[in-house]
Amino acid sequence: MVIPMTRILIATHNRNKLNEFQRIFNNENVTLVTLEDLHDQAEVIEDGSSFVDNAKLKASYFAMKHQMPTIADDSGLVVDALGGFPGVHSARYSGKGDEANNLKLLSELEDIDNRSAHFVAAIVFCRPNGECRTYEGMVNGEITRSLRGDQGFGYDPLFYVPKLKMTFGEATSDLKDRMSHRAIALSKLMEDLDALIDHE
Ligand code: IMP
Repeated sequence: MVIPMTRILIATHNRNKLNEFQRIFNNENVTLVTLEDLHDQAEVIEDGSSFVDNAKLKASYFAMKHQMPTIADDSGLVVDALGGFPGVHSARYSGKGDEANNLKLLSELEDIDNRSAHFVAAIVFCRPNGECRTYEGMVNGEITRSLRGDQGFGYDPLFYVPKLKMTFGEATSDLKDRMSHRAIALSKLMEDLDALIDHE
């Protein structure tokens, strides 16, 4: 029996995230399609108040638009001493990109001893009919006092993971893939995947 391939759209313009998804996501019955494949440059305004809300905004918009089951994620860094900031504002914290975000974070925490933080990822799978499933992952860490490592992206060089005894910026992509917030959320989705595509 030939099982038909299910096409699933990964709704992100972020090349790093896309690579991470493609590395982790392997299922022989699924073909991943990207927004680039569909020549879709659209940006969804992420004005939800939670990671789940934002991921759902993106997944439902693109699922409807392309009539294809769609996965979208939203993620960010939650810093305890900053009352959860930058949180859903992580990407636009400084307004000037990753490098400036990191410098701003270092400066805001300069005189603060509590360095506890966690990364959160929400991954939402939506069908064109608006039905959605949500998966979340979290990883605990501490914000370092200087940049360490040049792997990964975003806040990785400032995010020390006690379990690894290094920052995500110092970890290989293999190592990060095994324990990142996105990997945890994605592995939860993978557990459901066969049941999810059974309905397509
Ligand atoms: P999003 O594209 O709206 O999900 O933006 C998430 C932002 O959170 C990114 O631009 C990064 O600044 C930060 N972020 C999320 N996940 C990670 C990660 O795995 N490493 C480093 N920074 C991350």
